[in-house]
Amino acid sequence: MNQPLILDGKALAKKTEADLLSRVEKIKAAGKGTPVLATILVGSDPSSATYVNMKGKACARVGMESRRIEMPETTTTAELLAKIDELNADPAVQGILLQHPVPHQIDERECFDRIALEKDVDGVTCLGFGRMAMNERAFGSATPAGIMSIIEAYGIETRGKHAVVIGRSPILGKPMALMLLNKDCTVTICHSRTANLPELVKQADIVVGAVGKPKFVKAEWIKDGAVLIDAGYHPQYQCGDIDLENASHLSSAYTPVPGGVGPMTIATLMRQTVEAAER
Ligand code: NAP
Repeated sequence: MNQPLILDGKALAKKTEADLLSRVEKIKAAGKGTPVLATILVGSDPSSATYVNMKGKACARVGMESRRIEMPETTTTAELLAKIDELNADPAVQGILLQHPVPHQIDERECFDRIALEKDVDGVTCLGFGRMAMNERAFGSATPAGIMSIIEAYGIETRGKHAVVIGRSPILGKPMALMLLNKDCTVTICHSRTANLPELVKQADIVVGAVGKPKFVKAEWIKDGAVLIDAGYHPQYQCGDIDLENASHLSSAYTPVPGGVGPMTIATLMRQTVEAAER
C-alpha cells in the first residue's frame, strides 16, 4: 500500500496565519483599528490557562490584540453574563472567547448563548450552531471548522463518503457531524451508548476521533485506506484518541498528534476573528 498522506495541521496553520497577518494589516491600513479578541478565563484550571495563553500568543502573531479577562473561581452566572454583556457592547472588541469549561456553579450554556452572534468567533452559541447546521452564514465551532479546513486544503473527497464521528459533544462531535453532512458525507455519530462501535468504524471512509480517551480507536477497527482525523490530545502521553502508532499505516491520510488538529483549531479562531473584524 502507498504511504499515507500526513495532514500537516501545523504547516497549514502557519500558512493560514501568514495570510491573516496581511489581512489584519489591511484592516489597520483602512483605519478600522486593530482587531481585538477578548478571552475570558474563569477560575484557575492550569490547562485552560495554557489554552488561553496560546490563543493570546496567536493573536500577537497575526497582528491582533487579545484582551484577557480573568475572573475568580467563585464567579456567578450573573457576574459572567454581565461581563459578556459589556464585551458585546464594546465596539473595539470583534470576537469573544469564553474558555470551556467554567466552574460548576456557572450555567455555561446560558453564558455561551449570551455572546452576540457576530462576535461568536469560537462558534459556541446555539444560534450559530443552528445557522451552521442550516448552511447559513455563521462562525463554526473552531475545532471542527479547523478540521474542515484541513480536509479542504488537502483535497480529501467527502462527497458520498461514509464518515464515522466518535463523540457528540456540543463543541466537537455534533458540529463535526453536521459540517461533514453539509459536505455530502453520509454520517454516523457514535457515543458512549453506541452498540457495535468497532463494526461501525470498520465501515468508515473517514474516521473522526473525538472521544477524549487516549488511543481509544484501535487499529483493528480501521478499514484499509480510511482517512483518520484525530481531534484528541493527551499531553501526558503525546497521543490522541486514535491509536495512530498502529493504525496510521493502514490509512490513506491522517492528522498527526501533536501537529494535526490542535494548531488548526487556534488558526481557525484567529481566522474567524479577522473575518468578524472585516465585516
Ligand atoms: P467530551 O465533551 O468529553 O465528549 C466526549 C464524547 O465521547 C462524548 O460524546 C462521549 O459520549 C463520547 N464517548 C465517551 N466514551 C465513549 C465510548 N466508550 N465510546 C464511544 N464514545 C464515547 O469531549 P470533547 O470536548 O468533545 O473532546 C474530545 C477530545 O477532543 C478530547 O481528547 C479533547 O482533548 C479534544 N479536543 C481537542 C481540541 C483541540 O483544539 N485540538 C479542542 C476540543 C477538544 P456521551 O455523549 O455518550 O457521553
